[in-house]
Amino acid sequence: MIPPEFAYHAPRTVPEAIKLLSTLGGDAKLLAGGHSLLPMMKLRFAEPGALIDINRIPELRGITEAGGMVRIGAMTTENELIASTLLQQKLPLLAEAALLIADPQVRNRGTIGGDIAHGDPGNDHPAITMALDATFVLQGPKGERQVKAVDFFLGTYMTALAEDEILTAILAAPFAAGTGYAYQKLKRKTGDFATAGAAVILNMKGGKVTQARIALTNVAPTALRASEAEAALVGKAIDDASLNAAAAAVRAVCDPAEDLRGDAEYKTAMAGEMAKRAIRAAAARCK
Ligand SMILES: Cc1cc2nc3c(=O)[nH]c(=O)nc-3n(C[C@H](O)[C@H](O)[C@H](O)COP(=O)(O)OP(=O)(O)OC[C@H]3O[C@@H](n4cnc5c(N)ncnc54)[C@H](O)[C@@H]3O)c2cc1C
Repeated sequence: MIPPEFAYHAPRTVPEAIKLLSTLGGDAKLLAGGHSLLPMMKLRFAEPGALIDINRIPELRGITEAGGMVRIGAMTTENELIASTLLQQKLPLLAEAALLIADPQVRNRGTIGGDIAHGDPGNDHPAITMALDATFVLQGPKGERQVKAVDFFLGTYMTALAEDEILTAILAAPFAAGTGYAYQKLKRKTGDFATAGAAVILNMKGGKVTQARIALTNVAPTALRASEAEAALVGKAIDDASLNAAAAAVRAVCDPAEDLRGDAEYKTAMAGEMAKRAIRAAAARCK
């Protein structure tokens, strides 16, 4: 289907884009990679009167390290995440997990900022950034504010972004030496959204877990941090008992919607299994 008519704006700076958002109000939508927005417009689930294309704003792109944090511009594409040597060295989970998102065509245009701002529980970056304990930088007419990934997702397609704000960057601390990590995603076929997914970051000492972060994809109205599952691992070796305890705690927080990927019982079971696999894989990488 062809989307309804809309006005098109292509600002060159963030302040220009914010000004447009403020003047056009709720009738305008930011256009990033367009791989979620345009399908919704074609289906007429979204009918914005204006699109503000943020592809020509250089300050929204690029991956840098400063002040002990890695900063990823919101308009960085999935393929740029995958190819980044800085990410491969400092936040390898992000570079590796981006390869599991969609297909090469989508990854060529789709941006990390769009994936997060869309607020779709099926998207992978929400859980990945929760596991990274990342912070999102939001800019609006009143200036800049920072929101933790765990506080950003309010419901399906609902986030902490105000109508006149832009997600400009994602900030995350580089991994400490010896950190183990993994993202396990069950999908029906290449290019599909997750039936269930789990992102895990682990630190271990003397064979026991000292720190664990676990976050889940597509098993609730938003991505979830599984704090009880993390607590079930801390102080323990990775064995059947700790894995089963963590998986049970994961299953306990799941509240998935039934769809073509499966019913709630199946998705909940798969979330437990993805968490187990990701914990095992992360532990094997801990040094
Ligand atoms: C076939 C297919 C398969 C896919 N599979 C997956 C998958 O497996 N995993 C996955 O995670 N995703 C998947 N996606 C979604 C894809 O990753 C999208 O690219 C992503 O959800 C949105 O990013 P975008 O840059 O295309 O944003 P757009 O579609 O341009 O925008 C999405 C929404 O976010 C808003 N927005 C965009 N950028 C900003 C910003 N900087 N600040 C504030 N608001 C902003 C827009 O206004 C819009 O409402 C798939 C998409 C397709 C078409």
